[in-house]
Amino acid sequence: MKRSAIFLSTVITSIGLLVACNDEETETATIEDGDVVQVTTTTSQIHDIVENVGGERVESTPLMGPGVDPHVYQASQGDIQLLNEADILFYNGLNLEANMVDMMDDLGTEKPVYALGESIPDTELKEDEEEAGKPDPHIWFDIDLWSHAVEEVRDGLIALDPDHESEYTENADEYLDELAELQEWANQEVEKVDEESRVLVTAHDAFQYFGDTMGFEVLGLQGLSTDAEYGLNDVQQIIDVMIEQDVGAIFAETSVSDSSVQAVIEGAGQRGHEVEHGGELYSDAMGEPGTEEGTYIGMYRSNVNQIVDALQ
Ligand SMILES: [Zn+2]
Repeated sequence: MKRSAIFLSTVITSIGLLVACNDEETETATIEDGDVVQVTTTTSQIHDIVENVGGERVESTPLMGPGVDPHVYQASQGDIQLLNEADILFYNGLNLEANMVDMMDDLGTEKPVYALGESIPDTELKEDEEEAGKPDPHIWFDIDLWSHAVEEVRDGLIALDPDHESEYTENADEYLDELAELQEWANQEVEKVDEESRVLVTAHDAFQYFGDTMGFEVLGLQGLSTDAEYGLNDVQQIIDVMIEQDVGAIFAETSVSDSSVQAVIEGAGQRGHEVEHGGELYSDAMGEPGTEEGTYIGMYRSNVNQIVDALQ
């Protein structure tokens, strides 16, 4: 063999090795054939999207179950293990999971991590009324914004598991249709409530997006986050407004203590204004897994039914 031929064959072998190396690297970054995608989410609302879009391709675990308040949630040792073991992570962002932001940033250097709320253009987000510049994280109560989140989950799963792109796309389309139907149904239901009675008073300020899209004025006893205690002033102010506008019901939330709601009912009663306990709404947490309220669509419907029943 001439020297140039030996050189050429060495080059070819080297290229072959390089290609082989690259192949191996791509394989570890995506999902191997036959494996399902391991997903960990913070809230159950996000877990529900992942199940709908991922179908049989994913195994998803939410960290936050029924009644859990994401604003003050601290990750446990078990959670950290789930976050470390997952192939991909989805969380709400916009400071909803206030105590997990640094952890998610760190994990983002090791694996795909998506903050669903942060994919939504700023112009579509509501601002915290008490703190300018801070976004309202409760995006799941605007079905349009939540559809953005569905698309973000779809795109994240496709990027990680491109061989099953068509499955994810079909599932997402189907689910987006269901969300559009949910919006139509909700629009019809709230028509049962007179316009002047559309005032929604709740334990904390989770329903601004809902109010905006459904035409309700929304008052929360606590601010956007539950990390600060409500005060006597908040209670008195809410009672003032309820008397002034003749609002007859206040709603508790499954993930917030009921004491503030009771304080309003008692305080209003002492001033001769009867306020009905409108029941518990699902705000930052969903219902028990396996029940209707354990799904996003089920909990949204349950909220609308309760609001319409109490205010019509
Ligand atoms: Zn909240």
